[in-house]
Amino acid sequence: MGKDKSKILIIGGGFGGLFTALDLAGTGDITLINEEDHFLFRPMLYEYLSGEVEAWHIAPDCKELLDNQASFIRGQVTGIDLNAQTVSLADHKELSYDVLVFSPGAITNYAGVAGAEEFTLQFRTLDDANQLRRRMTEALDHVQPDSAPQDTRSALTFAVVGGGASGVELSTKMAALLRDAVKRRALHGEPRVVIIEMADRIVPGMGEEIRKFVENALENERVEVHTETRVVRVTQNDITLEHKNERLEIKTAGVVWVAGVRPNPLTDSLAVERDRRGLIVVEPTLQVRSHPNIFSLGDVAFYRDVEPTLAGTAQLALQEAHLCARNVRAFIEGGELKSKHFVELGEAVSLGTEHAAVLTAGKVMGGPLARQARFAMYTARLPTWHHRLRVGASWFFEGTAPRPLQPLGF
Ligand SMILES: Cc1cc2nc3c(=O)[nH]c(=O)nc-3n(C[C@H](O)[C@H](O)[C@H](O)COP(=O)(O)OP(=O)(O)OC[C@H]3O[C@@H](n4cnc5c(N)ncnc54)[C@H](O)[C@@H]3O)c2cc1C
Repeated sequence: MGKDKSKILIIGGGFGGLFTALDLAGTGDITLINEEDHFLFRPMLYEYLSGEVEAWHIAPDCKELLDNQASFIRGQVTGIDLNAQTVSLADHKELSYDVLVFSPGAITNYAGVAGAEEFTLQFRTLDDANQLRRRMTEALDHVQPDSAPQDTRSALTFAVVGGGASGVELSTKMAALLRDAVKRRALHGEPRVVIIEMADRIVPGMGEEIRKFVENALENERVEVHTETRVVRVTQNDITLEHKNERLEIKTAGVVWVAGVRPNPLTDSLAVERDRRGLIVVEPTLQVRSHPNIFSLGDVAFYRDVEPTLAGTAQLALQEAHLCARNVRAFIEGGELKSKHFVELGEAVSLGTEHAAVLTAGKVMGGPLARQARFAMYTARLPTWHHRLRVGASWFFEGTAPRPLQPLGF
């Protein structure tokens, strides 16, 4: 294959796709296709919700990041023809490829729970975070200055479904924001944030050292934890839970669903080998079985040589992207393709608006210093040096204080 002529099509501008495109610069004719015009650094979506960071920090424009080193198309891929080696878009455009990189990520998995898809808020995009912020502000705006504490608590009850890292980060952030707003508005009483988890403990996959910080944070932020609890049904105004055969109905101002993900449905259009969860089985080189010119990575791919805690993480997609770019280049140039063992790079969870817990090199730290460390750690993982420098300078000079939930219209 001629080096400069190979058409490399990359589907998905997230951790897998965008970082592959950036690493591949200078090889072949690269086109990145993404539904949104921006990349999204999802691990900091909680800080966007609280106003600690701004959209441009965590959602830089794809075109700007690529800086003419690859073409960018904002569009939705609707189908892939493996025989013709073409990809079709929602606007009926068709693009051909020599090499395809498939990384469209995951979507929310509602697990068939009645009313979940219709009535809960999901938390994956900037729009989702904007909608949740608005829902919290509207709920606050409905509380009268003379409302009794129990009425305030009832009007400001939010549920977060899923007690993994996402559920903990989100619930502590929401509790901190709501309590701050209650105080600023001199309302009587407290908000109520409930977290619901099916397992017998919160953050089931997390190490014991970091769990201590998580449990303390949940207690300090007064998040109500329901473990061994299943969501049975969600409606516009309430959520029904089941714990040890007993049912409990809670009136809510909003329910956020972060209880799991499944591979992007676009994966169904590929007639390739998949595991029981629907993930594409890839070779140790990230090539799709029996399709050596197709590479897949990130949340849609099943790669065997990975530490179990890394599955479905940005950390994994990012590490895979470097291998993917290397192997795509080798494939085009007729070189040797490599494999890699992917390891955990450390954990960092945001806890409320002032604290975090960070596990790195076997050591755990918590508190405000860990929050700073988390910001530093994530600055280093943002795409491109230019963007990292701009964001790092902004956080250093302008600060990262949260933006209070102001009454709407202000
Ligand atoms: C709120 C939240 C917090 C998280 N926090 C962490 C964390 O702290 N640490 C961690 O390691 N992981 C975290 N994750 C997980 C992490 O974000 C994912 O594992 C990672 O983004 C996977 O990368 P990806 O490239 O597979 O998919 P994504 O980053 O999701 O990118 C997929 C891209 O494909 C695009 N796309 C989808 N369908 C199409 C289509 N049909 N046509 C064109 N484009 C399409 C999407 O718009 C998206 O831009 C978090 C996830 C969420 C939702």
